[in-house]
Amino acid sequence: MMDDLERKLDGTKIASEIRNDVASEVAALRERGVTPRLDVVLVGDDPASRVYVGSKAKTSAELGMSSETHELPEDTPQAEIESLVDRLNLDPEVDGILVQLPLPAAIDSAAILDRIDPAKDVDGFHPENVGLLQQGRPGLVPCTPAGIMEMFRREGIELEGRRAVVVGRSNIVGKPMAMLLLHAHATVTLCHSRTRDLAGVTREAEILVAAVGRQSLIGPDHVAPGAVVVDVGMHRVTDRETVERLYPGNEKKLSAFAKRGAVLVGDVDYTRVAPKASRITPVPGGVGPLTIAMLMANTVKAARLRRGTDD
Ligand code: NAP
Repeated sequence: MMDDLERKLDGTKIASEIRNDVASEVAALRERGVTPRLDVVLVGDDPASRVYVGSKAKTSAELGMSSETHELPEDTPQAEIESLVDRLNLDPEVDGILVQLPLPAAIDSAAILDRIDPAKDVDGFHPENVGLLQQGRPGLVPCTPAGIMEMFRREGIELEGRRAVVVGRSNIVGKPMAMLLLHAHATVTLCHSRTRDLAGVTREAEILVAAVGRQSLIGPDHVAPGAVVVDVGMHRVTDRETVERLYPGNEKKLSAFAKRGAVLVGDVDYTRVAPKASRITPVPGGVGPLTIAMLMANTVKAARLRRGTDD
């Protein structure tokens, strides 16, 4: 019988391994006179976006990369954001461009994202990179699914020939996740809000990835014994009753809630699903740290590809 510690896929630990590898690559590039640079565009003052952007800049600096944050007010016109993107596209010093989402409601986000030079599109959202991924050709891959694949690789989790089910078909997580699993020779099913008998489908999974955006939707009835479960969801729970229901008798969670007035919860009911799973990512400390580590890896990849130093 596996204990809790062996079962847990420790995203924080894996992310730190990825970051160490990226830092070595950055050091090697710097010896050749190349310092990879990530530019982040932040429009408006959404507090969560501000935190994410701050941690991206901090991580870039820790790994020896340079980074620049471009802060624009909430009411910035579309044309002004587009001309900033154009300028960054043309700047030879800039390797990666990330436009922090969500953009204000008045902005046409797709038009902004489509404008980013695909060679600098470290989020991997540009249709050219989406097409390259679909065809299995080298390009920049969205950070969250790329991080999950890196975790599978580093943890020795076999994918070839196995049944994988992805719940959620967003362009940033579900679809690219399904495509990467397919390229790794898993047999893939993609579920969404119109899927009938979701639990019946997910119980077929040897590898189950939940990217639904519905707090604790995936319960023990959705999971086959021995499945590998990856939880992409991220929700801030602020009522004590829900925390007590999700983590009965879990003093650590309850005291974290008492201290901060909130806890982070995923799309998977961890307490009830973990005993059935062979491996499982927690929230927090699972997929989240992998995403930011892969953003750094993508920036270095972009620097190498664009500057022709990929050897
Ligand atoms: P999204 O764009 O809202 O997509 C959610 C997907 O789930 C949609 O395809 C939707 O189906 C499907 N869905 C919704 N309710 C469902 C249900 N009851 N049964 C089956 N499928 C259902 O979300 P996202 O951007 O992919 O993000 C998903 C979650 O991951 C969110 O909690 C987000 O905060 C989190 N996230 C975390 C990270 C990280 O770094 N940890 C990164 C990105 C996202 P339809 O297409 O039919 O509407």
